[in-house]
Amino acid sequence: MLPEEVMLQAQAELLDWQGSGKSVMEIGHRTPDFIKLAEHVESSLRDILAIPDSYHVLFLAGGATHQYSIIPMNLLAGKQSADYIDTGIWSDKAIAAAKRYTDVNIVCSSRDDDYQSIPDPSNWQLNNDAAYCYYTDNETIGGVEFHSVPKVSTPLVSDMTSSLLSKQVDVSQFGLIFAGAQKNIGPAGLTLVIVNSELLKDILSITPDLLNYSLQAKNHSMLNTPPTFNWYMAGLMFDWVKQQGGIETMQQMNQRKSDLLYRAIDESGLFYNDIAKTCRSRMNVVFHLQDENLLQTFLEEATLAGLHALKGHKLAGGCRASLYNAVSEAGVEQLVAFMREFERTKG
Ligand SMILES: *Cc1c(COP(=O)(O)O)cnc(C)c1O
Repeated sequence: MLPEEVMLQAQAELLDWQGSGKSVMEIGHRTPDFIKLAEHVESSLRDILAIPDSYHVLFLAGGATHQYSIIPMNLLAGKQSADYIDTGIWSDKAIAAAKRYTDVNIVCSSRDDDYQSIPDPSNWQLNNDAAYCYYTDNETIGGVEFHSVPKVSTPLVSDMTSSLLSKQVDVSQFGLIFAGAQKNIGPAGLTLVIVNSELLKDILSITPDLLNYSLQAKNHSMLNTPPTFNWYMAGLMFDWVKQQGGIETMQQMNQRKSDLLYRAIDESGLFYNDIAKTCRSRMNVVFHLQDENLLQTFLEEATLAGLHALKGHKLAGGCRASLYNAVSEAGVEQLVAFMREFERTKG
């Protein structure tokens, strides 16, 4: 979901971008107009997240899967092994992708707990010689989120696909952060990579140029034609976040939205959430019905009431409410009211 204001602005200037008589998608990526736009978008993101100058910000084609698949090539830097924290489906996929290139040390895994918690850090098996330590900040499918940054001695790599822009992050604590755009930033097809330039000194020589973060940084993410329209849309979203009051406002709003929904679930006799309370996701609230026979009716009636996309991921089942930045507090109130009424009449 994107904010209506963002969609309306894109619509209003779709055929005539800033008086140019052309659509932004018709403008070459090497033209001064597009370069100015790209610079504005990057500086907005740098402002929003207070990204230090020593970090590159890359706007790359593709999705989050591309990034976790190429992170080993870019960051192994001659080391024999990388640390991975396993908290769900996205961590698991990243681990499988990394195994092609390196030994993977599983720092901890909540697999035996059905990925409903984050293992206690006092039991983590960190390797101080690992090239980096990778974790998934928010497990979008399972509904598990880190509410503090893991403490490790190697460069920390984070998949923030479904949590970037939803809360404050201190970028200087990370070696690399990446996020596919389609969850909380803009249309699918663009991925943001924020990376400490110090880490890009020893990239595997087989790495294709387009996948080489250092080369992409030197070429301002324009080694080949980037997804220009998506880049523009991400920029509109960044401007919107700033207009709302920035990341702090987003964080507070997201906290209120998820508190409201979890409270309703915990008070309910029909709906439940079984994720450990210390790591419940503020972005993706996964919940189930005590009587599973009611699931289909619940989803159908929700759709009729204008509450869309509540079906859980096929790997998780049940329901999932994704509360990305564009979802308003009023929208969550409407969902809670609908759930209460459903339970009263059908539960
Ligand atoms: C959606 C998602 C992905 C996969 O994104 P693609 O762009 O489809 O590759 C990876 N990680 C997380 C946390 C996600 O939410």
